[in-house]
Amino acid sequence: MVLDKEEGVPMLSLQPTGKQKGCAGCSRRIKDRFLLKALDKYWHEDCLKCACCDCRLGEVGSTLYTKANLILCRRDYLRLFGTTGNCAACSKLIPAFEMVMRARDNVYHLDCFACQLCNQRFCVGDKFFLKNNMILCQMDYEEGQLNGSFHTRVQ
Ligand SMILES: [Zn+2]
Ligand SMILES: [Zn+2]
Ligand SMILES: [Zn+2]
Ligand SMILES: [Zn+2]
Repeated sequence: MVLDKEEGVPMLSLQPTGKQKGCAGCSRRIKDRFLLKALDKYWHEDCLKCACCDCRLGEVGSTLYTKANLILCRRDYLRLFGTTGNCAACSKLIPAFEMVMRARDNVYHLDCFACQLCNQRFCVGDKFFLKNNMILCQMDYEEGQLNGSFHTRVQ
């Protein structure tokens, strides 16, 4: 289990005639009427849990995610390993758990969200401008004002 993997968790009913399976979580035999099959192993309903929030992954329709030997629910997987998109300023990926600034369709690292000419940072309520996809402070914007530019406020 080293690759990222997304997998549905089907609930199976135990075949009365079938051999009892061992649980991959607690390694005891599964004697319950229902068991879960995930990652090519069998699990007690209570033993297949998210490594982060402990929620049971066997609820109907659940999907589990694995990464680097962690079993995670969708929410935690996205929080830890998902991405928000590429920063429009430095073009690196932004992990989903990071705070971002958004301007129109663009997302930015907090650190990257500054006037691209003078590096002025913006606070909530500050006015900033987007011109040719560049973030500009009001001063730089007004100096080089052209048609078709766009301004909005930091939210
Ligand atoms: Zn178990
Ligand atoms: Zn979780
Ligand atoms: Zn960035
Ligand atoms: Zn500026």
